[in-house]
Amino acid sequence: MSDWESDCDDYYSTLSQNRTPPQQNFQSRGSYSGQSQRGGQYSRNITTARGRGYFRGNNKVISIPSTKVGRVIGRGGLKIRDLEYESEARIKIGNSAGDNTDITLFGTNSAIEKVEQMIKDLTIDKEASKKQNLQSASSAETASQVSVYEKFTYVNSEGKKVTDWAAASAYADQVQREMWDKLPPIVKNFYNEDPTIAVMPPNEVAYWRLCNFDIKVTRIPENWEAEAIPNPVLTFEQAFKDYPEILDEIRKQQFTKPSPIQSQAWPVLLKGEDMIGIAQTGTGKTLAFLLPALIHIEGQPTPREKRPGPTVLILAPTRELAIQIQREVNKYHYKGINSVCIYGGADRREQIDSISKGVDIVIATPGRLIDLIKANHIDTAHFSYIVLDEADRMLDMGFGPQINVCFLNVRPEHQCVMTSATWPSAVRQLADKYMHNPIYINVGSMDLAAVHTVTQKVMVVMEEEKDTILLDFIRNMDPTDKVLIFCAKKNTAADVTANLACKGYYCESLHGDRDQSDREAALEDIMNGTVNILVATDVASRGIDIKDLTHVINLDFPLKIEEYVHRIGRTGRAGKTGIALSLVTKYDWANAGELIKILEEAHQEVPSELREMADRFEAKKSTSKHGRGGRGRGRRPQW
Ligand code: AMP
Repeated sequence: MSDWESDCDDYYSTLSQNRTPPQQNFQSRGSYSGQSQRGGQYSRNITTARGRGYFRGNNKVISIPSTKVGRVIGRGGLKIRDLEYESEARIKIGNSAGDNTDITLFGTNSAIEKVEQMIKDLTIDKEASKKQNLQSASSAETASQVSVYEKFTYVNSEGKKVTDWAAASAYADQVQREMWDKLPPIVKNFYNEDPTIAVMPPNEVAYWRLCNFDIKVTRIPENWEAEAIPNPVLTFEQAFKDYPEILDEIRKQQFTKPSPIQSQAWPVLLKGEDMIGIAQTGTGKTLAFLLPALIHIEGQPTPREKRPGPTVLILAPTRELAIQIQREVNKYHYKGINSVCIYGGADRREQIDSISKGVDIVIATPGRLIDLIKANHIDTAHFSYIVLDEADRMLDMGFGPQINVCFLNVRPEHQCVMTSATWPSAVRQLADKYMHNPIYINVGSMDLAAVHTVTQKVMVVMEEEKDTILLDFIRNMDPTDKVLIFCAKKNTAADVTANLACKGYYCESLHGDRDQSDREAALEDIMNGTVNILVATDVASRGIDIKDLTHVINLDFPLKIEEYVHRIGRTGRAGKTGIALSLVTKYDWANAGELIKILEEAHQEVPSELREMADRFEAKKSTSKHGRGGRGRGRRPQW
């Protein structure tokens, strides 16, 4: 059975529970006859389910490969409903004739044309379309720009088609500039520095930064002509004294003082500067960019109700992180500012409805955002405050071209914030491209600071010992313990969960093969204590904030040592301590040396077997032909 067939079965069975007589005015090219139970039930019910008694306008029959019908229907019928909603046409799946299936489209001519194109886009070969998407994303051409280029294509004296690319691109730039010129002006500076902060001597500022995880602050590139980097604030009042409602909201959270990144980021962002925050979840980075965003939204000269689109965009690499950001956003109520969270796998129509009702903040993953930009539901020209959260992870996940598309129409004077756990050259290039002389704040050393609140235990084991060790651990858990178990692969996570469940341990799993709703429910369950064991892949290694997580178990050691730091940083948070147990096998030898460094730095015990493993790897490296040993998990060490 192909993967779409199961989707169709789902949908057919739901619909067939509500059978009604066929519509009288259906017209078809003949292949639709109502003979097929499946085809007939589907078409009849899809109309009655939404209360449509008849279709106004024309109809057209198109034919698509039967193997692609599932793509049109989508899981549980979500896709077909989206297509109908988007195009205002109606779609009826007919019988399959051999390898092809007829689809009847009903509606006005333009609706039919639109839905036909959408179906074509959906059903073209996936690999080819992926390539095409990437090409158009990376060459940064929107459909409208392509048509601009066509204007500059002519047939020369030799009868050849030529395009004057220079003229075309100058023209496209001019059109874009004119579009930006028409936008209402924006204001970015809302900062009124507290007098006690303004007079802080430089040595005091330097000392504060040193004592606060040795925060490094600089402009990129250094620019002596630019305004001085503002001093950090030490209290919430110093940052928000002009915004009493914001202070009230912070008080409701009962925080005692700003976190280091907040102290330094709030003055920078309230001044309207672009900012790069090298910080990870748990540092208070979300609030660092969120509160200035609220003030930015409310402080624009054009009243909110007159703005044609949302003002703030927060891009996040994963659905989980996007949802977590929205949860944080929802905690702060300021002047009725509202938000929508848009990500793939959730009801697209609901997301479109929220946007069309008017929102101020869009929290999105890149894929779904582009989808809605292309369908003209979001016009990025109106965003004036943009956050790229966990930029390094977005790039690791291959979202670079998509980020470029998101920025295509964004006005050049927008304010931009980027957070990243690391600072590799790809992130630097991204900052170069979209930020204007940003202020760089690095609380990166908190990576290791977080590690200091975690007791790290490492056991060198054989692969086949892992299950027994895990079971022993779980049997000895206290009822108040909460554990996150990391596995390398989705199917290992699924197997471990099933095994534990068979042995009577309530647990949940979080990995890429699960539906979005199941993933959300799994997180919810561990957060609210319904279960106290969550088995996950690296989907959960960064950004996820599970309160009171007491233990992390690395059942499989991660491929990259950075991931180890992120994984164990899920525990020992918010002033609490935690325990991380890592099972290391001989296949993890490439990471042994780096792991030892982390353990030693945090004054943790280093097993002698781990040192031997690291020595063997070093020896292998130096004798290997190319000076490189086997790297990473899965390459068999030779001893
Ligand atoms: P984040 O790094 O944004 O994921 O935040 C991690 C957690 O820290 C969230 O649950 C925040 O509510 C909390 N938080 C944010 N700011 C503060 C603060 N100043 N003091 C204590 N907790 C905070």
